Amino acid sequence: TPSKRITGITPSGKDGWEVHFAAMRKKLAGEPILMLSVGDHDFDTPAGTVEACVAAIRGGYHHYIQLPGLPRLREGMARLSTECTGVDTTPDEIIVTQGGQGALFAVCQGVLDPGDHAIMISPYYATYPGTVRAAGASFTEVDAKAESGFEPDIAAIEAAVRPETRLLMINSPNNPTGAVYSRQTLEGIAEICRRHDLWLLSDEVYWTIRADAEHVSPRALAGMKERTLVVNSLSKSHGMTGWRVGWLTGPAEMVRHLINLNLVSSYGLADFVSRAAIEAVENGHGVREIAERYGRRRAAFLESITGLGDLKIRGSEGGMYVMLDISAVDPDCEAFAWRLLEDEKVAVMPGTSFGPSAAGHIRVSMCQTEETLREAAQRLRRFVARAA
Ligand code: PLP
Repeated sequence: TPSKRITGITPSGKDGWEVHFAAMRKKLAGEPILMLSVGDHDFDTPAGTVEACVAAIRGGYHHYIQLPGLPRLREGMARLSTECTGVDTTPDEIIVTQGGQGALFAVCQGVLDPGDHAIMISPYYATYPGTVRAAGASFTEVDAKAESGFEPDIAAIEAAVRPETRLLMINSPNNPTGAVYSRQTLEGIAEICRRHDLWLLSDEVYWTIRADAEHVSPRALAGMKERTLVVNSLSKSHGMTGWRVGWLTGPAEMVRHLINLNLVSSYGLADFVSRAAIEAVENGHGVREIAERYGRRRAAFLESITGLGDLKIRGSEGGMYVMLDISAVDPDCEAFAWRLLEDEKVAVMPGTSFGPSAAGHIRVSMCQTEETLREAAQRLRRFVARAA
């Protein structure tokens, strides 16, 4: 029989993904579905990065690499972490991972023992529960309420802390809500971590993609550098979802232990992918363009839905998604998403796919052109008018 650890790794356990899968099937069958359910870019990786990979393959970079990542890549990532977190970072505080997911996995393996407990803020990215369970630990979900712009309530986090709690997991800018946590919220979170001696996992994979909101990393707050593990990735910022390049920033001592995890799990990245990643990191291929593109898309979509019935916009200061409160039209967001797909051929994710506090909402992905987003807004307008 498979181990308890492996059978515990279920997907987030919510049914809303069925809407997405049904939409994919319809799209493949030729129906004109607007796919606003996906979380992947609709454009390719910037040419400079691709060319570096091709040159590396042709140049014979086909071999094992040094763990925990090529020195030049760790140096480049350290510079990015300095920029992202506002804290001077050295390469020995960096471990290169297989995507941001590899960094999430490394954090959970690095700080959780079987029987330990973690706290995550709901709604959350779909893999969080499985990644904690893979370490044999349990978790509590603390709801971030729509009324507070999906920022978590500090007292509610504090109330969830138990003697066996070792880790608090946060994500800002947030998937799925688009919320960017305020400095005040992060200060409150930092205070809890210091008081209860917790590790803080700060998932900052969307840090470059935000509207005007300032990016504050909790790593920069007093007494937090030694207890914060920052998850980063080239997937979103550099347009490289399929390349699987991410990294973790944390205290050098923790990084030293995680090098052993790297050794027994992935043995690092592909040689030529690492060379492409160096090129992407050193030259910042795509970063500004991608951030600006999502900014324009978010603005175009939000403008096209203004005054749309009683729909309210929540969060959406950053990341690649917009959350809409559709509860005035239909309190059941899954039913809303199914009907929107059937009637108007627009695919969105029901909020319940991400946790109970996003019930009554739909997540609209900005991973389509402005034109498609405007068209989707028109269809949504028609749909809501009919439902009224
Ligand atoms: N964290 C969040 C919040 C995400 O949304 C994602 C991907 O969608 C990841 C981590 C994983 O990133 P990667 O694709 O680099 O593994």
